[in-house]
Amino acid sequence: MTLSKSEKKLAGDLALSNLHVKIGKREILKGVDLLVRPGEVHAIMGPNGSGKTTLASTIMGKPGYEVTDGTVSIGGTDLTHAPTFERALAGLFLISQYPAELVGVSFLELAAQVLGPRGSEILSPKHLTKEAESIGLRLDLLERSINVGFSGGEKKRAETLQLALFSARYAILDELDSGLDVDALRDVAQRVAIMVRDEGVGVIVITHYSRLLKELEPDYVHVFSQGRIVRSGGPELAIELEKLGYQEPAIH
Ligand code: ADP
Ligand code: MG
Repeated sequence: MTLSKSEKKLAGDLALSNLHVKIGKREILKGVDLLVRPGEVHAIMGPNGSGKTTLASTIMGKPGYEVTDGTVSIGGTDLTHAPTFERALAGLFLISQYPAELVGVSFLELAAQVLGPRGSEILSPKHLTKEAESIGLRLDLLERSINVGFSGGEKKRAETLQLALFSARYAILDELDSGLDVDALRDVAQRVAIMVRDEGVGVIVITHYSRLLKELEPDYVHVFSQGRIVRSGGPELAIELEKLGYQEPAIH
């Protein structure tokens, strides 16, 4: 499916505005501003514990994350306090750092539920085989319980297949590269890059490595530190960060 320019515009921007988030009594996010337009790739890099996963979870509405100030919206529709399923319906899709295992629910059963009547076409053997092959995922895995006993690479490939089939408008990829070998990384990153190019999917990609960003080229790179974005730049910033770390040159 390819969206025309006007349809992409309809999708609207994903906007995070002055986002403050508490987990329990502790404030983890301290004023995050980020605007992602359809078809843009934003990389977020930053030290462990700086709040990157908290940001991803907050965008998806994970329970227990209290937004004390600021907003999350798509195309001007406020989703700040919406339940997760409404955010998914609005087109948000998260690939977690550690994808959940769902005992007793197969990929095909889940996909049929999510897609409803559209499933007969999207899950037709021909289409499904083509999609699974492009991501390098064995078809027999689709009949097993989701992610149960899957290798790290198989989990990320299976999550990427969901992303490709469910017509997401914004993808949040939390360390998609963790646990992946070079081949799996290339397959999933290239599939996401095609969604960006052909469907105008907007992406927030959280990573420590510029390797992923060679396949999925970011328009913007942001440095995250202590619960906020402290520096933003173009793709060259990712290479600088990998060489020099997050401390040098002085954050400005
Ligand atoms: P990152 O993804 O950048 O490594 P996280 O968002 O996972 O960072 O964590 C940011 C901070 O929030 C850490 O200090 C972490 O201990 C804390 N934190 C994350 N999740 C929880 C939670 N469920 N309960 C309490 N503290 C949490
Ligand atoms: Mg994390």
